[in-house]
Amino acid sequence: MLTPQPASPNVSARLARQSSKDTAPELALRRELHRRGRRFRVHLRPLQGLRRTADIVFPRHRVAVFVDGCFWHRCPEHGSDPKNNSAWWDAKLRRNVERDRETDRILEDSGWTAVRVWEHEAVDAAADRVEQRLDESSRTVPYS
Ligand SMILES: [Zn+2]
Repeated sequence: MLTPQPASPNVSARLARQSSKDTAPELALRRELHRRGRRFRVHLRPLQGLRRTADIVFPRHRVAVFVDGCFWHRCPEHGSDPKNNSAWWDAKLRRNVERDRETDRILEDSGWTAVRVWEHEAVDAAADRVEQRLDESSRTVPYS
């Protein structure tokens, strides 16, 4: 499928941002988690053989964090459907969301916890949620 020409500077900016790593919301979350004493890996495939990269990974806790862009992952508050090439966009964004849900399912089937954070979320709330999942996951691991 051919990529249509962006219809506006706004769409061009979104395109440029699509696969970028180290976005501002991601960096802010990493900084906050680090400040709280959490240590993690970044841009890592949680599962061998699964071609999906998580933004923040806690291998020992088996927690994978994805910071999702509101446009690309169709945030309920800020997701929008471009008017130009609407069928193409609809198919593309729908595939993104399906892929997200599939990734979550595969990770959870493998004993991982997937945490989804929207780029619009306040960093404190996002970090709280990540830490909550970390605490939950350490409780489920038996002490040896
Ligand atoms: Zn949003």
